[in-house]
Amino acid sequence: MKDSFDRTINYVRIAVTDRCNLRCFYCMPANGIPYEPKAHLLSYEEITRLLRILGGLGFRKVRFTGGEPFLRKDFMQLLENTAKLEAFKSIHITSNGTLLQRHIPRLQELGITKINLSIDSLDKERFHKITRRDDFEKVMETFHMLVDHNFKIKLNAVIMKGINTQDIIPLAELAKDYPVDVRFIEEMPFNGGYKENLEMYSARDIFSDLKTNYADLEQLPSAHGDTATLYQVPEYQGNIGVIAAFSRTFCNTCNRLRISSKGEIKSCLYDDGVFNIRDFMRSGVSDQELSDKFSEIIRLKPKDGFEAERARKSPKSAMQSMSSIGG
Ligand code: SAM
Ligand code: SF4
Repeated sequence: MKDSFDRTINYVRIAVTDRCNLRCFYCMPANGIPYEPKAHLLSYEEITRLLRILGGLGFRKVRFTGGEPFLRKDFMQLLENTAKLEAFKSIHITSNGTLLQRHIPRLQELGITKINLSIDSLDKERFHKITRRDDFEKVMETFHMLVDHNFKIKLNAVIMKGINTQDIIPLAELAKDYPVDVRFIEEMPFNGGYKENLEMYSARDIFSDLKTNYADLEQLPSAHGDTATLYQVPEYQGNIGVIAAFSRTFCNTCNRLRISSKGEIKSCLYDDGVFNIRDFMRSGVSDQELSDKFSEIIRLKPKDGFEAERARKSPKSAMQSMSSIGG
């Protein structure tokens, strides 16, 4: 399905929970965020219904995120349901890697092998400082298990000035030693009010560090809808990407919708929720009415993240935690 800027929208990201067992400081305050009561979360039946309807509108890719998706009870059940949907051959998960190890065999059986793993530092102390939890070894163990089981891993790292810029090259080097793609992400302001002013380490700064270290860095063509500018170091197994998440240079090829854990649809990461599909669904509407609503929302998708930001109803929404949005 196309929006009014002729962009094909066929990718949905669903936050299955707003809860998390880590406390990454760029995502939420030390004492966490006020969690939604469980009854406010979309049920697995509701999520599966929405996916079926989106499949009918031409959606082909889904990413489950959170919060930490593996923290929600029976998350594997949702994956089992989704794997049965004909339309969604491409099922992805974003996870912090602390809780997924025991699910690796079943994920493989279901053919769900595309995992984005968040690791912001390869230094145990810095990892602890950033996530406010001591799970570095566990997460690295998960990384190695996923590599050994041939999962297609993208490693996400949020790069912050004065915090982990020294990790850029060591993290990029993982693409040499392993068949993993490494993604460096600009910090965004969605941290649940932890801090107001970001001291931006921009995509340009990250690129400059990469270029200084890798003289033979080559730019790769981007796939449609890819938010990362991709690079390759010759002979490296994986590629390296830089995501200008705050500078927002990629909106012209945007292909996605987001649904938060309480059913709020975001047609852009920078809007503050354009419609609550959970309430609409719980009012007893038909599949056709849901489908028409999605079509209307897609048609009204803003041109870019700046336009979405200007249209926000509440300035407070800028303080939302990424844990409730899903990243
Ligand atoms: N808990 C899972 C994880 O950390 O991978 C999934 C949810 S998390 C909100 C999804 C992604 O958003 C992670 O890669 C995380 O690094 C990123 N993220 C969270 N807060 C961010 C922020 N303020 N700026 C940029 N990226 C952020
Ligand atoms: Fe949790 Fe992910 Fe947010 Fe870190 S980034 S606090 S792991 S939801």
